Amino acid sequence: MKRSLPFDSEHEIFRKTFRDYVEKEIVPFYEQWEAEGIVPREAYKKMGQQGFLCPWAEEEYGGARADFLYSVIICEEFCRRSITSFFTFLHSDIVAPYIATFASDEQKACWLPGCVSGDTILAVAMTEPGAGSDLAAMRTRAVKDGNDFIINGSKTFISNGILADLIIVAAKTDPGAGNKGVSLFVVERDTPGFERGKQISKIGMHAQDTAELFFDDCRISSFNLLGKEGQGFVYLMQKLQQERLMAAIMNQGMAERCLELALDYVKERSLFGKTLSKFQNTQFTLAEVATEIQVGRTFIDQLILQHIAGNNIVHEVSMAKYWICEMANRAATRCLQLFGGYGYCSEYEISRLFTDTRVQTIYAGTSEIMKVIISRGLGL
Ligand SMILES: Cc1cc2nc3c(=O)[nH]c(=O)nc-3n(C[C@H](O)[C@H](O)[C@H](O)COP(=O)(O)OP(=O)(O)OC[C@H]3O[C@@H](n4cnc5c(N)ncnc54)[C@H](O)[C@@H]3O)c2cc1C
Repeated sequence: MKRSLPFDSEHEIFRKTFRDYVEKEIVPFYEQWEAEGIVPREAYKKMGQQGFLCPWAEEEYGGARADFLYSVIICEEFCRRSITSFFTFLHSDIVAPYIATFASDEQKACWLPGCVSGDTILAVAMTEPGAGSDLAAMRTRAVKDGNDFIINGSKTFISNGILADLIIVAAKTDPGAGNKGVSLFVVERDTPGFERGKQISKIGMHAQDTAELFFDDCRISSFNLLGKEGQGFVYLMQKLQQERLMAAIMNQGMAERCLELALDYVKERSLFGKTLSKFQNTQFTLAEVATEIQVGRTFIDQLILQHIAGNNIVHEVSMAKYWICEMANRAATRCLQLFGGYGYCSEYEISRLFTDTRVQTIYAGTSEIMKVIISRGLGL
């Protein structure tokens, strides 16, 4: 079915260029990165040199002022080759937009060029050991001291936690003020009092470094306060629409890749004198998976259009984050089953999609939290 997104010839040229880049510069190295549990810094720099990081950024910071469809293309092309834990979409489309939106001109001039070139890698740190879904329970404190702030506390599960040079950290500046007492700070690598903990070992997303972060009397200048003091929670909520939309776009791509791999495999695998594709169970399974994927595709493309138009679609994006991530998990499980024992072997791409889809219903807001938001929108 023809997609409803307005991709023009320049988008298509970009897609082809990026597809070739992925084939040449990423696919041959990706297994090694997965084994090492981290992507080399040079991979970010190479992406930056080619204009594949923060393509939306203003020209004065080195960007191309490209529209959101370019970010969509990058995400889709990564998924097309199951490159799911080289987390440039977190860098480009989730964290950098905080700087672009809430930083002063001086801060932008200081930080954004490095984000675009890939010299600076980004992370965002909200979650704490005692505060995940219940973000308001965060205990990390930032106390004003003259022209500085002193941060104490810890964060966990931070994607890019090892690689990151700049981390947007949510901390309470006024613990008595509830959500109005949260502020965002940009903590730079090597700031005294800031330490990274061990890299967290995970069942999937191996090339994505996930880490704990510790702040022990970590002194930062008030220059590193992002936006206004006390507005951190509002800023986080404002940016969640794009974060969750990106998660849904990625999961749609992962589900589509699962189907593609399964379709190829069942046509090749022979048993009981015919190919696996000739069994009705296979046909019905893949018919169901394909139908769900088409429903997801139609929905997500509509949301991308609405997002580009600047509409508030938090309710619908929560539905997409919930349903498409769950759908991608169903697709990965059902497609893997068709591979039999081979599906359980790491060298088969489907196994990576199986483990990498599993976390998608957990991070960026769990499926349950999405349902809480959706039901609120229903007036419940
Ligand atoms: C690989 C990975 C990468 C991550 N990257 C980042 C990152 O870069 N930055 C960052 O800040 N965080 C990151 N996270 C953290 C992630 O966002 C949290 O794990 C997530 O928000 C859930 O929080 P939690 O783990 O504390 O679980 P909990 O909040 O303790 O939830 C436990 C269970 O309770 C359910 N639950 C919670 N509240 C409700 C409710 N009201 N009603 C019904 N059920 C509920 C949840 O859905 C879940 O099933 C990452 C996590 C992982 C695993």
